[in-house]
Amino acid sequence: MTTVTLAGGGNGHSHAFHRALRGRTHRDGGDFWAWREAMYRVAAVLDPELYGRLAEAVFAEMLVSGYTAVGEFHYVHHRPDGGAYRDPNAIGRSLAAAAERVGIRLTLLDTCYLAGGPGRALEPIQARFCDGSAAAWLERWHALADATSDRVLIGAAIHSVRAVPPPAIAEIVAGIPPEVPLHVHLSEQPAENAAVMEAYGRTPTQVLADAGALTARLSVVHATHLTEEDIQLLGAAGVTAVLCPTTEADLGDGIGPARELADAGAVIALGSDQNTVIDPFLEMRGLEAGERLRSLARGRFSPSELDAARSTGGYRALGWADALDTLEVDADSVRTVGASFDQVTLAATASDVLRVLVGGELVAERGRLADGRDPAKLLAAALSELDVLTGYVR
Ligand SMILES: [Zn+2]
Repeated sequence: MTTVTLAGGGNGHSHAFHRALRGRTHRDGGDFWAWREAMYRVAAVLDPELYGRLAEAVFAEMLVSGYTAVGEFHYVHHRPDGGAYRDPNAIGRSLAAAAERVGIRLTLLDTCYLAGGPGRALEPIQARFCDGSAAAWLERWHALADATSDRVLIGAAIHSVRAVPPPAIAEIVAGIPPEVPLHVHLSEQPAENAAVMEAYGRTPTQVLADAGALTARLSVVHATHLTEEDIQLLGAAGVTAVLCPTTEADLGDGIGPARELADAGAVIALGSDQNTVIDPFLEMRGLEAGERLRSLARGRFSPSELDAARSTGGYRALGWADALDTLEVDADSVRTVGASFDQVTLAATASDVLRVLVGGELVAERGRLADGRDPAKLLAAALSELDVLTGYVR
């Protein structure tokens, strides 16, 4: 068998619990906001133990699929009524422990979420996302520092410009050390841009710029609906743009200006976001497919640029730029046989990942974790537990 060795996959953006919606929302129609209602029904029933088991299963699926590092954009912090757990970081610690049990690198992007929209109170379900103020969020964030390990980093996130008011954004930017990765959902939906423009008279990108957030440690997630000025601001700052092509297609978000962002100076990374697809090769192809569909041209990103988006782009965004992780991929499978070696990634799927090494240690082989555990069985157990709580019937 011929194999190719690749750099590990950096999953720049994930919400592990969204995996519970895979294959369950396609009868519903609707738009992003209707999908969000279904997602909130799952968010409402999570607790530290159950979320830990679900995340362990999802991280296991990522690892066997070729993601060796993941940025978990984590905002379900508190009890369903908004009250803190005895340890206010109980869920965050549970996610970190889940990653340790699987062997994936985790950057826990602990997320500040303060408002239901510009000038709008939180909806009841959003209470458990909220710390009440940027100062309270910072206090909880600093208390999480001891969760750091060889495989776990603590990063930070601002949920979005719609959920965090501009003064709070500035407070967060000033309150976390400059080397800490900072992420934000940016302009995923036209309605988000409209609400921010109406409230502040600026695009979300301009609001971030005014708050001092646009620096090279920032990752902007989606970056779908941008103005030309937004693109230039983001590029000049050298941010990472984390595109999530399978999610953006699934939710009908639109196609972001990835080529223009790269040309302006942004680094491109990829994320599995809602985890309706966990396959780094399909995200690569989704990035290039979106470009081709909107430009009517081929080869918008070269194979090496696409591979960098799959690997080093995400590692940079997650603070793991110096880590050395690798994958071995089957270059003779029914999907990949005959492909040029530099284009195997454009023919492969996650099924072609043979061996996964994190920090030189074998962590997964042919669809199983190194200790033999099967991610499908882990998922089945966690989902059946969750379904009892949500009342979902398959
Ligand atoms: Zn997201």
